[in-house]
Amino acid sequence: MRKGLLVVVSGPSGAGKGTICHALLEKEPHLAYSVSATTRKPRAGEIEGESYYFLSVEAFEEMIEKDALLEWAKVYDNYYGTPLKKVEEKLAAGEDILLEIDTQGAMKVREKFPEGVFIFILPPSLAELERRIRGRDTETEEVLQKRLKAAVEEIEVGRLYKYVVINDEVKRAVAAVRAVLAAEKRLVVRNEELFDEMEKGREE
Ligand code: 5GP
Repeated sequence: MRKGLLVVVSGPSGAGKGTICHALLEKEPHLAYSVSATTRKPRAGEIEGESYYFLSVEAFEEMIEKDALLEWAKVYDNYYGTPLKKVEEKLAAGEDILLEIDTQGAMKVREKFPEGVFIFILPPSLAELERRIRGRDTETEEVLQKRLKAAVEEIEVGRLYKYVVINDEVKRAVAAVRAVLAAEKRLVVRNEELFDEMEKGREE
């Protein structure tokens, strides 16, 4: 059986990767979302076990010790990590899985899964990124400045990804990500068994 695709989406805060991932999941029924664990507090409307697994620092550190995380990183003073079990289960069952994680985490995943599909989401411009981050209006100026600085640093790491998608318009960006996935699924290296079957048929 063909192994599932491990899809990693990153991008700076304000690039709109959450919106893109949400729309993508609606269009791609075979793509499952990897729910991350975090020690940050839930925001309004976030649901335990759907948005994140909201954990105490102690519980998170226990997951690290037990090697239960595929990767983890500290982002804005909070822990974030990808539970390993679900990722392994989905891929082994031939299903695709989507990780929406920061660049530090993505680079760690790439060491373990170089065959993963690494997609970086860029805002149309830095000015637009700042406008979007300010538009959220949920943070203090200090937090905003910190996020902006982190965003600029994140963008530099984007060069190391395999694909880049500009989020000027959500619909267009989602279509671009879907095109990447469609192409990746058709790579010969991911479909050796098709040739094996053909050869087997010829021998019989
Ligand atoms: P937020 O707190 O806004 O939900 O997320 C902050 C940052 O943490 C985002 O860049 C998001 O992609 C990243 N993030 C979310 N889950 C994970 C994870 O499991 N691992 C890593 N490394 N980063 C994550």
